[in-house]
Amino acid sequence: MSRSSFQQFHWQSQQFGCASNDIDRFYSLLSEQMQRLGMLKQTLGDIENYPVDLYCSPAPQKQLPDILISAGFHGEEAAGPWGMLKFLSQLSEQVFTSVNLSLLPLVNPTGFKAGHRFNIHGENPNRGFGVADGNAVETEESSQEGKLLIKQQALLQALSQDGILTCHEDVLQHHCYVYSFEPEQAAGNFSYGLRDSLAEYFLVAEDNSIDGCPLDDGLIHNHYDSSFESCLVRIGAKQGACSETPALEDFDQRINANSAVMQQFVNSSAS
Ligand SMILES: [Zn+2]
Repeated sequence: MSRSSFQQFHWQSQQFGCASNDIDRFYSLLSEQMQRLGMLKQTLGDIENYPVDLYCSPAPQKQLPDILISAGFHGEEAAGPWGMLKFLSQLSEQVFTSVNLSLLPLVNPTGFKAGHRFNIHGENPNRGFGVADGNAVETEESSQEGKLLIKQQALLQALSQDGILTCHEDVLQHHCYVYSFEPEQAAGNFSYGLRDSLAEYFLVAEDNSIDGCPLDDGLIHNHYDSSFESCLVRIGAKQGACSETPALEDFDQRINANSAVMQQFVNSSAS
C-alpha cells in the first residue's frame, strides 16, 4: 500500500461541529485563539488566496527556550491543525513565561481544503528541504509552501533552536509512532515522552518497517530525509520530532492526541 497524493479524506468532528476540511471555520477559530493569547502573526506568503501564517510569542524573552510547532503539511492529515486549535484553547498566557512558542498551524491550506495530501499544484509540501553548508536550500522537489519556509530559514532556525515538533498523521495506520531526532545516538526522554503522550490515545505501532525506516519501540530515531523537521535539526534545532497519529482511527480521538503531544512537547521543552 502507498499513500495516494490526491485521494480525498473527510471526517466529521463532533467537538468542533464541522467537517475536517472546513477551512473557513478553521481560520476563524484560529484567529479567535490567537487574539485571546496575543500571539503575533506574520504571513509568510499566500497559496491560492490562503495565507501561510507564522505565529510567535507576544514578548519573547532571551533566556527562554525557543520552540516551534508546525502542522498541516499534508492536507489529508487534518487532526494536526485541529489538534493545534484544541491545544491553543487549553493554553493560557502563562505559557509565554516558560517558552518562546512559535506556531505554523496550517502549512498546506489548499491540500487541507481538498482533504488530499499534496497541494493544489501537485507538490509534496514536506519534501525538498535540502541542506548545503549548514543552510536550507531548495531542490527540484521543493513545493511552493516549502519555498516560503526556506526563504524564512534564518527566522525559523532561530525560533526552533531548542526544538521542533511537526504533527502528521498516517492514513494507513491503526497505530501511532514518532520520528524523533536527538543529539545522542539513542533516543531519550524527549522522544519517549512524546511517544507516551500519543500512547494515552492509541496503541503504539509494533516494531517493523514503516516506509522502509526501522521502527523500534514506537520510534523512528535520527532518520534524516528531505523533510522540514529533518532540515531544521540539520541546520541547528537541538532536538525534533514528527508525531504520527493513526488516521484509520476516530477523528476526535486523533485531535485529542495531537493536542496532547503538543502540550507534552511544550512541557518537556520548558526551562
Ligand atoms: Zn504527513
